[in-house]
Amino acid sequence: MLLIRTAMDVVDEAAWLTEAERTEGVRRVTAALAAEGEAECIGCGDEIEPARRAALPSARRCIICQGRIEARNRVRVPIVEGAGTSNFRGVTA
Ligand SMILES: [Zn+2]
Repeated sequence: MLLIRTAMDVVDEAAWLTEAERTEGVRRVTAALAAEGEAECIGCGDEIEPARRAALPSARRCIICQGRIEARNRVRVPIVEGAGTSNFRGVTA
């Protein structure tokens, strides 16, 4: 019985932590979207396209600079033809 209670405590704690992380993520995204953006890109100094500013008022970079940052931050995982099982990094073992 004690083992079941302990397991349930772990499950409850994991659920609580998951909910807390989700709530914090929503709070951060909401704050970022509510933040005032820039008229000029902080990356290149060019004007941020009006359509981008209309769609995302909190934008601080032009679409080109934002695309470069997102491409740089993208995780590259090699594609392995005929891959069977893979490890956590997506690389065939
Ligand atoms: Zn830019």
